[in-house]
Amino acid sequence: MDNATDCIFCKIVGGEFGTPFVAETARAVAFRDVDPKAPTHVLVVPRNHVAGLHHLSPSDGSLVAELMSLAVEVARREGIVDSGYRVLTNDGPDAGQTVSHLHLHVLGGHPLTAGLG
Ligand code: 5GP
Ligand code: ZN
Repeated sequence: MDNATDCIFCKIVGGEFGTPFVAETARAVAFRDVDPKAPTHVLVVPRNHVAGLHHLSPSDGSLVAELMSLAVEVARREGIVDSGYRVLTNDGPDAGQTVSHLHLHVLGGHPLTAGLG
């Protein structure tokens, strides 16, 4: 699917709200979370609509690598590579996914809580 109707992140990718991109590649963009949970909180999303992690297939391997590389590039630009940062994605209701367009959270800029569950 290239673009999902009524998907907020598809609209952001399409420039509908003029959201600035922190960094971008051919297939992915990064922009700041509207409700940041850390001094750096950037979302890395594929330009094309993918509903979530389990909607990827093995043939999407290079897209996954591009998303991960962009997350690292964001951390570099934010100056948090050495202090440390977290990259995570929520997949499904129990994980707290609220936007059904695959996104990596890049969090850092202060010590993050150790808990993962
Ligand atoms: P999830 O809960 O699905 O893992 O993460 C969704 C994230 O998207 C949340 O951290 C939320 O603050 C962010 N978000 C929701 N709507 C918007 C928006 O319109 N613009 C931006 N920049 N972030 C959004
Ligand atoms: Zn979308």
